[in-house]
Amino acid sequence: MEEFSTDILIIGSGLAGLMAALEAENKGLSVTLLGKFAIGMGTNTSLASSFTAANSRFSKEDHLRATLVAGKGLNRPNLVNVLVEEGGSAIARLIGEGIPMIEDGIGYDPDFNQPGSQLPGVLLMRRLRERLRNTTVRLLPGLTVFDLVVEGGELQGAFGFFRDGKPCLIRAKAAILATGGAGAIYGRNDNQRSILGDGYGLALRAGLPLYDLEFVQFYPFVLAEPRLSSFILLALPEEGRLFNEKGEDVLEQMGIEEPLPRAILTQRDRLSRFLHEASQGGDVYYDLTKVAPEAWTRFPFNFLEKSKFPFRERPFLVAPAVHFFMGGAEIDEKAKTTIPGLFAAGEVAWGVHGANRLGGNAVTECVVFGSIAGQSAVEYVCRQAEGQGSRLTPEAFHRRWERKAETYLQKKRGVFDHPRDLMKQLRHLVWQYGGPVRQESSLAEGVETLAALQKRVERVYPDTLPDLFGKRVLENMTLLTQAILKGSLLRQESRGAHHRKDFPDQDNQNWLKHTCYRLEKGEMVITYRSVVTLC
Ligand SMILES: Cc1cc2nc3c(=O)[nH]c(=O)nc-3n(C[C@H](O)[C@H](O)[C@H](O)COP(=O)(O)OP(=O)(O)OC[C@H]3O[C@@H](n4cnc5c(N)ncnc54)[C@H](O)[C@@H]3O)c2cc1C
Repeated sequence: MEEFSTDILIIGSGLAGLMAALEAENKGLSVTLLGKFAIGMGTNTSLASSFTAANSRFSKEDHLRATLVAGKGLNRPNLVNVLVEEGGSAIARLIGEGIPMIEDGIGYDPDFNQPGSQLPGVLLMRRLRERLRNTTVRLLPGLTVFDLVVEGGELQGAFGFFRDGKPCLIRAKAAILATGGAGAIYGRNDNQRSILGDGYGLALRAGLPLYDLEFVQFYPFVLAEPRLSSFILLALPEEGRLFNEKGEDVLEQMGIEEPLPRAILTQRDRLSRFLHEASQGGDVYYDLTKVAPEAWTRFPFNFLEKSKFPFRERPFLVAPAVHFFMGGAEIDEKAKTTIPGLFAAGEVAWGVHGANRLGGNAVTECVVFGSIAGQSAVEYVCRQAEGQGSRLTPEAFHRRWERKAETYLQKKRGVFDHPRDLMKQLRHLVWQYGGPVRQESSLAEGVETLAALQKRVERVYPDTLPDLFGKRVLENMTLLTQAILKGSLLRQESRGAHHRKDFPDQDNQNWLKHTCYRLEKGEMVITYRSVVTLC
């Protein structure tokens, strides 16, 4: 087993992780940044493009109001205030790191002025990674964390496996969880394939409660042509048209007067539900054939041009997909979790978005809270007394985790399910029962079906290297699916992205509260917590 120590460990190399690392570097501490793959890549950030923040046409007050309106009473006001107040500095911070940003709509977009080459998110991540390469931050790609190491109630490090199956124990004085969301656990999603909710599993198993996991954001439409990936259609043109099998205009049917690109930002949940129900009864199409020929050399049309599908010539099938998780780990304004030494930032953290997220707020949140987490981790480590740390001797610590590594690699003879098959079934299940439109009968059926699948997941023994990672993914997926289905079953109302067909109205009298998920002796326990309102 490989073993090493660092002052600050950052788990996840998306925008939240990279900003935390840039903040923590050069403070006289050792900092390690790791990700499952190449640093910055395979992240949802590499797919993103728009940052919401106050600009010359969109004030801080507008930003605050729009975030709270979307969140439907479940945003945590202290965190929203930080996001809004620090949004402008976050954009300035990116510019300071060499990212060209231009004002657009209700915020800013990266403007790399490299038409046709790469997605803006990829260029953004590359540039930040280059910056980090010129620092003393240790970059550790290809390491998947399986467990947070918590001893005596305090964070002590993390344990995981490299892609070649070699176990690795990292002792750390502080850690920042920046593992992103979990969109790829769903059958139809627009996330990177590796965004599977590991961070939620790590947090729950470390004893941290998670909140509001039933609030999953659906993007109204992504490419749904068979054999093409669920590509999200960013930067929609005014000329684009959405219609059903009968040729009826979907926006007209819904009574939406604002243009589609704007409606996608402000009415994401409504559009998703409508398109979900419409696509149950027939196909829904998007038509780009009226887009001017010169536009096809520019982003995002140049990306569609790379595909085999004739987008310029005929309309194509679209359908909603999972996009973002609003729930997650509790943090305070300093990005502290309730485990001393553990901080969290980015999509894995809960609170800013409430029951639904305003478009563009996720990446601004990553910059704001990623930087804060880096700063707080530095302060925490500097305050720690010399020699403070694990009560176990390094040898005992090592032995404990070597034994743990052996249990992960334990093999058994017999015929067991293949992780890939179970993953497929789980993805289908969570989409079918925990999708854009939910109701009691199907949610209850989903919970029952999941219990049977869970037993089969427990009986998977890793025979190969992919199975070792596959089993952990399955365990995380099962935990999260359980939370989403049970939390949705209990929440007898519709609010933001959570829609119950049998309880179509928002019920502030009974349900203006947060759902708290905790793992106790392996069982998911659900309780509720009051909301804090703005004075
Ligand atoms: C297609 C698409 C477009 C989007 N567009 C926008 C947009 O324009 N504006 C906006 O605000 N938001 C957008 N979002 C949402 C936004 O991109 C994400 O919420 C945000 O980028 C998340 O950043 P993050 O740093 O938290 O996580 P990510 O960028 O997803 O990075 C997660 C990191 O954690 C690592 N990781 C996970 N588990 C482990 C583990 N067990 N061990 C080690 N490493 C691990 C991963 O390898 C990765 O490095 C979009 C999302 C999608 C899917």
